[in-house]
Amino acid sequence: MKVCDHFKAANGETLISFEILPPLKGGKIQSIFDTLDPLMEFNPPFIDVTYHREEFVYQKRKSGYYEKVATRKRPGTVGICAAIMNRYGIDAVPHLICGGFSVEETEDALIDLKFLGIDNVLVLRGDARKFEGKFIPEDNGHAYALDLVKQVQGMNDGVYLDDNLVNGSPSDFCIAVAGYPEKHFEAPNFDSDMEFLKAKIDAGADYIVTQMFFNNAKYFDFVDKCKAAGINVPIVPGLKPITKKYQLNSIPRLFHLDIPEDLSKAIANAGDAAARQEVGVEWCIAQSKELKAAGVPCLHYYTMGDVQTIKQIVESVY
Ligand code: FAD
Repeated sequence: MKVCDHFKAANGETLISFEILPPLKGGKIQSIFDTLDPLMEFNPPFIDVTYHREEFVYQKRKSGYYEKVATRKRPGTVGICAAIMNRYGIDAVPHLICGGFSVEETEDALIDLKFLGIDNVLVLRGDARKFEGKFIPEDNGHAYALDLVKQVQGMNDGVYLDDNLVNGSPSDFCIAVAGYPEKHFEAPNFDSDMEFLKAKIDAGADYIVTQMFFNNAKYFDFVDKCKAAGINVPIVPGLKPITKKYQLNSIPRLFHLDIPEDLSKAIANAGDAAARQEVGVEWCIAQSKELKAAGVPCLHYYTMGDVQTIKQIVESVY
């Protein structure tokens, strides 16, 4: 079932969903089940699975020189989605990125998803690879998520890349895209970022999932600005608790967002790991309750390998 139809069927109730990462290469599918089993009591209608582009690493050769080698650390997104649907009978949303794919490879990937009965995709550009200063698309790949949305929507309209192909069977993907309450870090200003977000919706995207944020006012402001720009699709808040001291620096560095002073001081001044955990959990519970009371379509939690913390939060919200 399409996520947009889950929103419609919920009839104004706030749904709950989770995002998980594939295990490191060589890991077991059981690790995914161990993450998700404890969360199934909350009846998530869908689970997102991230996609990880290949990275460059430097390996030392016998000669002493270093060799730059491409490696994919977390493969398996599509297989995990199929396994989730099979085991739990719920929907899975694979993330699909521009990085590392030519348009032909993207088309083949979409055909695989269609044949597997996967009705949903979260369409993204992807970040720059490590050791590359900026995002570099493949030759004949997409430079922006907008172009990838257009390709998915094209297939939904029965348009394939091969001009000679007539009567190609249309897909029926529900398309999600990313939105940034605190602006995407490369955008010169908020209005420009909003313009491209609107273009993704106009090109066929059905709903938006936001980058994490720690101040709900930023989400509410973002929703207002989206409405003012003529964006009327569901906007799903992405949530993650901060429970460790190092995250006060790593989260802003990795995700380009602000941590409110009250939260950063409370974490920094907490006496020990257990106290920090409590501060972060309570903050996320308060955020979740306020968002739910405001009638958001869904609370979407980034599990990032810490399922017990997420479970503790959701138990208090539902
Ligand atoms: P875009 O929408 O393409 O925007 C990128 C930048 O370009 C923005 O600054 C935008 O304003 C600008 N822009 C957009 N269109 C144009 C245009 N036509 N011309 C000029 N400028 C333009 N990354 C992964 O690798 N794998 C994942 O699984 C993953 N999951 C994510 C899930 C969520 C909910 C979020 C919020 C992010 C996720 N990311 C993931 C990270 C994401 O790939 C990065 O944030 C990336 O830098 C931008 O992706 P985007 O789809 O927002 O890009």
